[in-house]
Amino acid sequence: MPSARRSYATELERLEAVRLDRRLRSQECLGPMRATIDGFKSILFSGNDYLGLSTHPDVIAAAARALDSHGCSAAASRLVSGNPSLYGELEENLASLKEKEAALVFPSGYLANLAVLSVLAGPGDRLFMDRFNHASLYDGWQLSGASLKRYRHADADHLEGQLKKGSPAARRLIVTDGVFSMDGDLAPLVRLGRLARRHVCLLVVDDAHGTGVIGPGGSGTAAHLGAKADIDIGTLSKAAGSLGGFVAGSREMIHFLVNKARPFIFTTGLPPASLAAALASLRLFEQEPWRRERVLELAGRARSRLLAAGFDIPAGFTPIIPIITGSPDSALRLSQRCLERGVFIPAIRPPAVPKNSARLRMTVSAAHADVDLDLALDVLATSAMETGII
Ligand SMILES: *Cc1c(COP(=O)(O)O)cnc(C)c1O
Repeated sequence: MPSARRSYATELERLEAVRLDRRLRSQECLGPMRATIDGFKSILFSGNDYLGLSTHPDVIAAAARALDSHGCSAAASRLVSGNPSLYGELEENLASLKEKEAALVFPSGYLANLAVLSVLAGPGDRLFMDRFNHASLYDGWQLSGASLKRYRHADADHLEGQLKKGSPAARRLIVTDGVFSMDGDLAPLVRLGRLARRHVCLLVVDDAHGTGVIGPGGSGTAAHLGAKADIDIGTLSKAAGSLGGFVAGSREMIHFLVNKARPFIFTTGLPPASLAAALASLRLFEQEPWRRERVLELAGRARSRLLAAGFDIPAGFTPIIPIITGSPDSALRLSQRCLERGVFIPAIRPPAVPKNSARLRMTVSAAHADVDLDLALDVLATSAMETGII
C-alpha cells in the first residue's frame, strides 16, 4: 500500500509532467495596474478590477474612515455579533442595482454560490448548468446533493431538450454565469428566462463579471440583455474593487438564506472597511459612467487588433479577452515571454478551461492608459511570433 504522503507526491509529479502544476508567483505592487511579478516589472492585464475602482481615492477614503472607526475585523459572524449598519445600506443599494426586493452580502462570491445552490436545491431536485459555469457553482451543486444536467455552453436548444426529457424532479434550477469568466461571452439569458418560465424552473445567474461593467448603470448582464433572473448573484471583489459576494432576490428568498445558508451562518462577516469600499464603488458606478465606456472601448480596440494580428479570439465585447493557444505548454511559454517584456497576462489551463483550449486570459481596465494597451499588443504579437503561435 502506498503511503498517503507518497500518493500526494505522485499526483504532483503527474501534474508537473503535463505542465498542469501551479505555483504562486511573487508580486510587489507598484501602483494601479503595475507590479513586479517574479522579479519582472510589469503592467498587469490579469485582474478583474475592470473600472479601476480599487485604487479610486473615494473608495480608499471610505475604507480608511471605516478602518479608523471600526478597526480591522468584524470579529464574529453577522448573526452572532450584530449587523453593522453599513450592511443595510450596501444591501439596499445592491437590491436596487439588480431591481430586486432584497439582497444579502456574503464574505465572497464563492461563498454566495455555495450558499445559493446548497440552500435552494437538495436531494430529489435537479440543476441544469452551463458546462462553462464557474467552479464555485459546481462546488455548490456538490454540496446540494441535487442531480445535475450539464448543457452545452450557451446552448439553449440543448437545455430545452434536457428540460423536456428528464424524469420529474421536485425543484429545478437553471444556473448560469452571466458573463463567462474565462471566455468573456454572455449567457443567452432571454431564452433561458423563457425556458425557465415554460418549464417552471428558477433562473439563477452568477454575474460576477457583468456587474458594474455592462447594463444600464452597471446593473449587469440580465438588464443588458433585457432579461430577468429570479436570483442574481454577484461579487464585490471585481468591478466593485473591494471584497465580498452578494445575492439579490425576493425578500422571502433572502430571509430563507439568512436562516439556512451555512456559508453565511458559520463564517465571520466582512471587515467593515470592505463594506465601506464597496458602498463607495456603487456610488461611482452611477457618478462615473465614463469608466464603463472606457473599459469597453479598450476591450474593443484590443480584440480587433489581436484578430488583425492573427490571434484566435472568440467573438465578444467584454473586458475578458481569451487568447486561445491550445496546449498548456504554448500558453505558459507565451505568458512567460510577455512577462519578460513587462506585460503580465496569465496563462489559464485545464481544469479551469476545457482540454486543448489553454489560453492567455487578458483583462483590460478603465485604469489602463492607451500606451499600456499599445505596449501589451506589441509585446503579444512579438512574443507570439517567436513562439510560433501566430
Ligand atoms: C470570481 C468569480 C466568483 C467568485 O467571486 P469571489 O468574490 O472572488 O469569491 C464567482 N463566480 C464567478 C463567475 C467568478 O468569476
